[in-house]
Amino acid sequence: MLRVAIDGPGGTGKSTIAKAVASRFGLEYIDTGAMYRALGLKALRNGVPAEDENAVKAMLDETVIDFAGGKTMLDGEDVSGLIRTNEISMAASNISKLAIVRAKVDEVSRFLASTKDVVMEGRDIGSTVIPDAEVKIFMTAAPEVRAKRRYDQLREAGKEADYDKIFNEIQQRDYQDSHREVSPLRQAEDAVYLDTSDMTIEENIDAVADIITEKTGRAV
Ligand code: C5P
Repeated sequence: MLRVAIDGPGGTGKSTIAKAVASRFGLEYIDTGAMYRALGLKALRNGVPAEDENAVKAMLDETVIDFAGGKTMLDGEDVSGLIRTNEISMAASNISKLAIVRAKVDEVSRFLASTKDVVMEGRDIGSTVIPDAEVKIFMTAAPEVRAKRRYDQLREAGKEADYDKIFNEIQQRDYQDSHREVSPLRQAEDAVYLDTSDMTIEENIDAVADIITEKTGRAV
């Protein structure tokens, strides 16, 4: 069994790295943030405020979320393309504060990790979701670097981008994710700390692959 947990703040490039590493080692890639995003999307669509725990609970009772084959499924609908906006980032961060929401995503995530070898990325995978993961990495980068990466990504995709707005949003989400009561963003004691501020994507993928090889003896 091989479970690789990659945690860290938003905009670090975890998804890109986790996907590449999963394909190198032949593991299944699971994006837990995408599931929080899908729930954030449904709450926005249905006008359910994150502060109204009873309404959120009622919504969860009739919601099926899944992450399979790289796709985020919300009640059978592929919402992968709809959840990558700033609005949904904040909606996900807001709703992810609730213990009942975390319990739902944790259940799906743990089930997925019990059936396959995985690279799972999020905020609390090494600390809470799979505390006995074989490999745990805490990946981060300076907020300015993360904002610049996100800005470049949007510009390359031909989209509008405002650096200051992105930078502020990153700081707000960092604060919110690290200060919530339930499962805040934090480095698991036994996780390897990886600051990627000065790394290219290739260097970052290699650094993660080296950690996996060092911890498990598996090489590619
Ligand atoms: O990783 P991503 O930016 O897609 O995650 C969106 C939001 O979902 C995060 O800002 C965080 O609030 C929440 N999240 C979480 N725990 C995880 C993954 C994501 O609370 N394991």
